[in-house]
Amino acid sequence: MRELSIILLVLLFSFTISCQSDSGREMADLVLVNGIVWTVNPSQPWAEAVALKGDKILEVSSSREIMRMIGEKTKVIDLNGDMVLPGFIDSHNHFIHGGFSLLSIRLREVKSREEFASRIKNKVKKIEKGEWILKGDWDHQQFKPPELPRKEWIDEVTVHNPVCVNRYDGHMVLANSLALKLAGITKDTLSPEGGEILKDPETGEPTGILKDAAMDLVMRHIPEPSIKEKIKAAEVALRHAAEKGVTSVHDMAYAGNFEVYQELLRVNRLTARLYVYIPITEVELYERLKLKTPFGNNFLKIGGLKGFVDGSLGSSTALFFKPYADNPETRGLFHSQMFPEGIMEHRVMQADRAGLQVAIHAIGDRANHVLLDIFERVIAQNGERNRRWRIEHAQHLLPEDIERIAKLKIIASVQPYHAIDDGRWAEKKIGRKRCQYTYAFKSLLEKGTVLACGSDWTVAPLDPLTGIYAAVTRQTLDGKNPGGWFPEQKISLEDAIKGYTLNGAYAEFSEHLKGSVERGKLADLVVLSRNIFEIPAEEIQKTEVKMTIFNGRIIGRK
Ligand SMILES: [Zn+2]
Repeated sequence: MRELSIILLVLLFSFTISCQSDSGREMADLVLVNGIVWTVNPSQPWAEAVALKGDKILEVSSSREIMRMIGEKTKVIDLNGDMVLPGFIDSHNHFIHGGFSLLSIRLREVKSREEFASRIKNKVKKIEKGEWILKGDWDHQQFKPPELPRKEWIDEVTVHNPVCVNRYDGHMVLANSLALKLAGITKDTLSPEGGEILKDPETGEPTGILKDAAMDLVMRHIPEPSIKEKIKAAEVALRHAAEKGVTSVHDMAYAGNFEVYQELLRVNRLTARLYVYIPITEVELYERLKLKTPFGNNFLKIGGLKGFVDGSLGSSTALFFKPYADNPETRGLFHSQMFPEGIMEHRVMQADRAGLQVAIHAIGDRANHVLLDIFERVIAQNGERNRRWRIEHAQHLLPEDIERIAKLKIIASVQPYHAIDDGRWAEKKIGRKRCQYTYAFKSLLEKGTVLACGSDWTVAPLDPLTGIYAAVTRQTLDGKNPGGWFPEQKISLEDAIKGYTLNGAYAEFSEHLKGSVERGKLADLVVLSRNIFEIPAEEIQKTEVKMTIFNGRIIGRK
């Protein structure tokens, strides 16, 4: 069968070339034929082939039709049955941080205090005295037994190097004694509002663990990387994204990232489209500029404003109505951006009046509830419009707030991988009942809410296929939930793919430009080694990205 189809292909190919001149038909620059294309376009869900011209999709159709667009200069790719999807859009990412973390120390897989110390010791050997050791992404839940790291584990090997390595969720760091000294943190230092300096219950000395706002006490002493270093990190991140089929990224940024992306754009080395959020604390600057978002071109846009209501579940700083099951002393914390009281509402109001999109981080049920109250009041005051406001994470929800999210047309910006990761220990932290509406993707969808999916890289891997696998299986990483953790919240493969493509485009006001394989849209595609609709769901994450096409150009190929 295959040989026959190749012969036919060649015949058709030569026929097409011979008659191109008199047909006057537009010829493609690149065609992909003999594939299985799931387009995410409801009016033409399936196709066999795609033709690209310049930076756009010229046509989506059968191989036979597409081969009529092959001219003398057309590059032809025979997909041989491989699957094509729209290029993936990662709707929540810390992109340059991710690049730095690919370049820096890795503590993510560490399972013991000895290994923790030895990796840090090895790093010290490779750097100069006085240089900081940063990032790391450690996960104390993996330690045996699970325990928070302490400065004493590493002080001996880091006498001349300040250390500030973060938990993978970014809501806790471990600082060594030198870093604490530089920050002036002693046993007498009080925890700042929205943060905590952990202290030894016996000696009262800081253990080195700093949570949320307390992290700033040390972090403000870390020298800012140079623009050259940031560009290097961004390029490493872009290469990694291309390998994973990611062609668009929503960067939950720090204000300083723009010059990096602008420089990469100038030298034509941006291989993903960046939609960049700026901290909501900068809202007045936007107001003064009278700048409406999104603003920019198809490669680089200023998106909206990113804010925080609370912390994270793993750090016990996500804000709940009821106490944590494993620590009845706490219900979590409001983020420092919530102080003084009323400031968040004021800023959202300012942003909305200025015509700006907001994307606000809320994890605990109370954080989400408080945020929805704010949204409700601002909408009531400013009236209806096409806002596309987003809640980042929308992780633990009261059932009635799932309704409210839909009613207020808020986009739920979710990260399915967190469900299979946190699912290992979330019940211990907050009990089974609250977990029923944790990562409640299905319930959100059923009410009509748009789910924009992302990774939250480096909290989770920058890998949409693993995210899709997580959303459709909910099989926790420890293998203890083969049928899925709260399986009623599993979503369909179609919905999961849509979450990583068209819905991501919607979340940045760009669904007319990208997010589906459709004539006239930007030529961003991913080619997979297998038809993920026909394999067991468990194998989706093992599927390979064979090729990534960005802006009509092949940027990654296996
Ligand atoms: Zn994040």
